Amino acid sequence: MTITAKQKRDCASKVEKPEMRLSIEKSSPGRRAIAFKNSINAEATVPQGLARRTPPRLPELSELDVVRHYTGLSRNAFSVDTNFYPLGSCTMKYNPKINEEAAALEGFSGLHPLAHDSAAQGTLEMLYDLEKRLCALCGMDAFTLQPAAGAHGEFTGLLIARAYFDRLGMKDRTEIICPDSAHGTNPATAAMLGFSPVNIKSGADGRVDPADLKAHLSGRTAVVMLTIPNTLGIFESRIEEIAEMAHKAGALVYMDGANMNALIGIVRPGDLGVDIMHINAHKTFSTPHGGGGPGAGGIGVKKALEDFLPVPRVVKEGKAYRTDNDRPFSIGKVKAFFGNTGVLVRAYAYLLTHSRKELCGIAENAILNANYLKSRLQDAYPARSGEYCMHECVLTPPAELTEKGLKTLDVAKRLLDYGFHAPTIYFPLIVHEAIMIEPTETESRETMDAFADAMLKINEEGKADPQLLKDAPFNTPVKRLDEVTAARQPNLRW
Ligand SMILES: *Cc1c(COP(=O)(O)O)cnc(C)c1O
Repeated sequence: MTITAKQKRDCASKVEKPEMRLSIEKSSPGRRAIAFKNSINAEATVPQGLARRTPPRLPELSELDVVRHYTGLSRNAFSVDTNFYPLGSCTMKYNPKINEEAAALEGFSGLHPLAHDSAAQGTLEMLYDLEKRLCALCGMDAFTLQPAAGAHGEFTGLLIARAYFDRLGMKDRTEIICPDSAHGTNPATAAMLGFSPVNIKSGADGRVDPADLKAHLSGRTAVVMLTIPNTLGIFESRIEEIAEMAHKAGALVYMDGANMNALIGIVRPGDLGVDIMHINAHKTFSTPHGGGGPGAGGIGVKKALEDFLPVPRVVKEGKAYRTDNDRPFSIGKVKAFFGNTGVLVRAYAYLLTHSRKELCGIAENAILNANYLKSRLQDAYPARSGEYCMHECVLTPPAELTEKGLKTLDVAKRLLDYGFHAPTIYFPLIVHEAIMIEPTETESRETMDAFADAMLKINEEGKADPQLLKDAPFNTPVKRLDEVTAARQPNLRW
């Protein structure tokens, strides 16, 4: 007798998972892991008036309780270290562990933020050299590493554009042109800084239409802001022509370079006419990220904009490094000290462990992997664009599934049962029911095949038993959430 999908589902929903409890709820009076005798006498080191009168309410647990508790928690969390994570636009690639060792070096991790320059030479040298290397890779003249994320880099870059036009007395340059295929942070950043975002539609090929751009360029345009490759995973192949048009109109060109993973070592945006760009160290240069941090979104600028970069700048005098705050045209500080230095150390280690040729290989393999998945999947999940993609591809659910009332969300939820993180869904906004897949270069062919097999299987499952997809996932610690209630009446306490 064969078991039907419905019976399997009923069985799965009947198995009760061990209850998730807080460590404090598992506490039992007097239970201990290891009790250190003769450890520091805290009471003696804390001034009398500041010492607490009642002991802290800490969980009382055995060593095994603690090990199981934290191992259990770590298994509930999804990460690149455990499974494939093809989250489009996020570049969730594997992070070499040597980067972690570098970031943990006492000289970096133990440095006091207020240390005198003379006691921080190693960190200053790292920052200085990283800026120089990023300039060389991106074709820019100067870099700042202060911004804490990609969006913060955009914010810093547009502040610099504002300062530049203000200094030229062009206060009426208030518009930022963003194509509809730009990352959402682009128009959002423009609006946040008081600019008016001007939206232009992409052409049928997913690229900026120069004629449409021309119609929107004017003496009010401050910046033409492009995401390259754009959110459809397509390279803006007319970028030089676009940059020339922008410059003729007196505007600057900003490139959102969060997706440099597709270009690194191959394309230098500065050579294409880009005046300001940000990189995402936590994507392209491999830092574990997710859930909002930690990040580093340094920006590079051309010579004419260098004076406006945030202070302090790191300068080299002879063999010594020094922080320089004497920059009268600087926009000031955008982050405490030097930004998320730990992320920058990881980026630096990543650059030092890859030759120029290997960096090109990163981009080439990122592109190859995305096209491999696209070609394996596009018969079952129609692609937004017929041409080759860059580092990511945008697919959609087929009519056979949508006719049965199935959505991208159902496919994504079912993928979780197969042990994969879902791709980015419903983004970019210009593609209805988008499924945006970015495999990255660090994944093997076997992993991508397993993912493609699962996607194809889900396609078959959806056609035969749509309810299976609607009820998925079955194997995750938390089942499908009531998203409306979660948004309207969030339960924010345990
Ligand atoms: C990720 C991303 C951003 C935003 O970067 P954060 O570090 O999350 O602020 C901006 N643009 C593009 C194209 C991105 O992929």
